[in-house]
Amino acid sequence: MERLGSKQEVRQAVGEARREGKRIALVPTMGALHDGHLSLVSAARERADYVVVSVFVNPTQFAPGEDFEAYPRDVARDIDLLGAEGVDLVFTPSSEAMYAPDAEVMVEPGPLGAVLEGATRPAHFRGVCTVVTKLLSITTPDLAFFGEKDYQQLAVLRRMVRDLDLPVKIVGGPVVRECDGLAMSSRNVYLSREERAAAIVLYRALRSAETLALDGERDAHVLADAMRSLVESEPLAEVDYAVVADAITLQPLDTIGPAPARGLIAARVGGTRLIDNLSLEVV
Ligand code: AMP
Repeated sequence: MERLGSKQEVRQAVGEARREGKRIALVPTMGALHDGHLSLVSAARERADYVVVSVFVNPTQFAPGEDFEAYPRDVARDIDLLGAEGVDLVFTPSSEAMYAPDAEVMVEPGPLGAVLEGATRPAHFRGVCTVVTKLLSITTPDLAFFGEKDYQQLAVLRRMVRDLDLPVKIVGGPVVRECDGLAMSSRNVYLSREERAAAIVLYRALRSAETLALDGERDAHVLADAMRSLVESEPLAEVDYAVVADAITLQPLDTIGPAPARGLIAARVGGTRLIDNLSLEVV
């Protein structure tokens, strides 16, 4: 496995792989890798001959006052994990290598980036779209893998690739969870023992909406209220949003079915902001 930090070197290495006729996959990450990331790497391994993983804590998707500095970083451990997964190339640029000091053009996500996460974090998806566009441009993959853990991010990026005619196929991977249901996240290390125990309330709330839906409840507001009250019943948790939305447009729904619906929750547990989501099936 190669580890490279410069865009030029990456272009060269990927160019060689392409000349050898290899199918190229990209898995963008911010590092502090866990089994959620590795599930995407293994999906990429299955569908491509040359797998690139980027490890880059992207400053432009953090607002001032968010956790950019505190974000967990352990590149040596990440490299070990990716080596064991059979990754071909790890791209670990510095911020300076990634962004010219006078760079000013950014990619606007449009309305899909303004709701939910975008309502609380207004510049977040602009940063995500910009860095992903740059990573796609540098690594020119056939396939790019993203987790459903960041469900809105996946929706925004699918839309971006469609609207900008970017020559890549976006592939989504399911949320990987701890044994008790908590969605794996690099930010879970921020949680104290009590907060870690409280944090499963997000998944419990999503599951309660799923059960109601499977039992025949079609009123999306009833489902959303059920999620919200369950999260609110946990003293350490504070709800940011708990909604039932169209799975593609992310617009809030009045009723669920027949179009696919998604339950989405963001909540603070102690000082840590957590997000989770679940498909709400109608049978
Ligand atoms: P991050 O390092 O948090 O930017 O995540 C990199 C990629 O891994 C994104 O596409 C995330 O959606 C995905 N990811 C993070 N956590 C999980 C998880 N628990 N299950 C599946 N994918 C995940």
